[in-house]
Amino acid sequence: MEFYDVVVVGARSAGASTAMLFARAGYRVLLLDRVRFPSDTLSTQHIHRPGLRLLKSWGLLGRLVETGCPPVRRISYTVRDVRLEGRVPAEEGIDAVYAPRRYVLDSLLIEAAVEAGAEFREACTVNGVLAENGRVTGVRLRTPRGAPAEVRARLVVGADGMRSTMAGLFGARMEREDAPMTCAYYGYWERLPAQFEVYERPGRLIGVVGTHDELTLVAAYFPQSEFVAVRRSPAQAYLEALRTTAPELAARADMAGRVERLRGTGSQLNFFRQACGSGWVLVGDAGCHKDSITGTGISDAFEQSARLVGSVGDELHDTAALDAALLRYETSRRQLLEPRYDMALESAKLQVPDERMDFLRWIASDPESAEAFLSVAVSHVEAGRFSAPTP
Ligand SMILES: Cc1cc2nc3c(=O)[nH]c(=O)nc-3n(C[C@H](O)[C@H](O)[C@H](O)COP(=O)(O)OP(=O)(O)OC[C@H]3O[C@@H](n4cnc5c(N)ncnc54)[C@H](O)[C@@H]3O)c2cc1C
Repeated sequence: MEFYDVVVVGARSAGASTAMLFARAGYRVLLLDRVRFPSDTLSTQHIHRPGLRLLKSWGLLGRLVETGCPPVRRISYTVRDVRLEGRVPAEEGIDAVYAPRRYVLDSLLIEAAVEAGAEFREACTVNGVLAENGRVTGVRLRTPRGAPAEVRARLVVGADGMRSTMAGLFGARMEREDAPMTCAYYGYWERLPAQFEVYERPGRLIGVVGTHDELTLVAAYFPQSEFVAVRRSPAQAYLEALRTTAPELAARADMAGRVERLRGTGSQLNFFRQACGSGWVLVGDAGCHKDSITGTGISDAFEQSARLVGSVGDELHDTAALDAALLRYETSRRQLLEPRYDMALESAKLQVPDERMDFLRWIASDPESAEAFLSVAVSHVEAGRFSAPTP
C-alpha cells in the first residue's frame, strides 16, 4: 500500500493550494480529484484582496497575469440614483481586481502544487476512508480505470467542495445551517468593455467584471423565492434583471454579444461543518459554504489552506501535536469565516434599506470617502479601515 504524509481530496482553490503549501513545507503529498483538468466550475471568479495577497506571496499572481487575466483598475457601485466610482486601491503592489477563468486558475494552482513536489492524480474518485482505532489513516479510491485502490496518510484533507463526500465519510457534524437566500445566473459577453461594477436594487444585484479572452462576466442575483420562476426562463429573467437594475449596463450590452451558455444555481447553501477530527480536516467549501453573493469563496479557501498548513507546521509526525494543531486551525477558521458568513447572509437579503441610501448619498458627496468605501468593497473583510466622514 502507498503511504503519504498528506492526502488531499479535491484539487481546486482549497485543495490545490493546501497540497502546494504542504509540499512546500517538505511533506509527501498526494492530491486527488475525480475530474480531469483543465476543468471549469460554477464561479463568478472574483478573487478578493486577501486571496490576491496570498497568491502574490506564493509567487503565483504574476503567473496568473501572464495567462492573460486582465487587471481591472476601476470600480463602481450603483444603487438606484447613487453612483460611487473610483480607482481600485493600491496596496502591497496590488492595484487591480482579477477574475480569472476557473479552468485557468485551478490548473495553475495544481501546476504549482506539482512543482512543489506534490503528486497529482486526476480522474480518481475517493469513496471511502481507512481508519484504525477511531483515527482516519487513509482513503479508498477508484482509479481512472475503475480499479479500487487504497492509500494511507497521516492526514486526510477533505477539500471536495460544498457537497463534500469526505465530510460524510469523516462523520463531520453540521454545526450551523441557514436557509438558502439567493439564486444566481451569469454569462460571458464579448465587446462589453467594463470595469468592476456592482448594481443593486431591492431584490436584485448585478456584478460585472472583465476576465480572460477579452470577455466580461455579468452575474445576476435573485431571491431564492424566485428560483423556480427564474429557472423556467433564465435568459429572460437575467436580461430583465440587467434592464431593471443596471439600465446603463443593459444599453451597453445591447451593442455587445453574449457567448457560451448561461450558467446558474439555486444551491446557495449556508453552513458550517465541524472542521477536523482524528487524522482528518476539511478546508474550503467542504467545511463552510455561504451564499456566493460576496464572492469570497476562493480567497477564503486560500486563507484556510495557509492557516491549516501554518498551524500544522512541522508537527505532522507527532499525533498528539497534529491533533492540537488541527484544533487550533478549527478555531482560527471559525474566527476568520464567521464575520464573512454573516456578511454574506446580510448581502443575500437583497434589501436596500433607506438608511443605506442615506449613507451612500452622504459619502457620494466626498470623493475621498467614496474611494475608501469602494476599497472596503474590494477587500470586503477589512471594514474597520473605513471611517465615515463627519456630517
Ligand atoms: C454561482 C457562484 C459564484 C461564485 N462566485 C465566486 C466569486 O466571484 N469569488 C469567489 O471567491 N468565490 C466564488 N464562488 C465560490 C467559490 O467558487 C468556492 O467557494 C471555491 O471555489 C471553493 O472551492 P473548493 O476548492 O472548496 O471546492 P470546489 O471548487 O467545489 O472543488 C472541489 C473539488 O473536489 C472534487 N471532488 C469532489 N468529490 C470528490 C471525490 N469524492 N473524490 C475526488 N475528488 C472529488 C471536485 O471534482 C472538485 O474539483 C462562487 C460560487 C458559486 C456557486
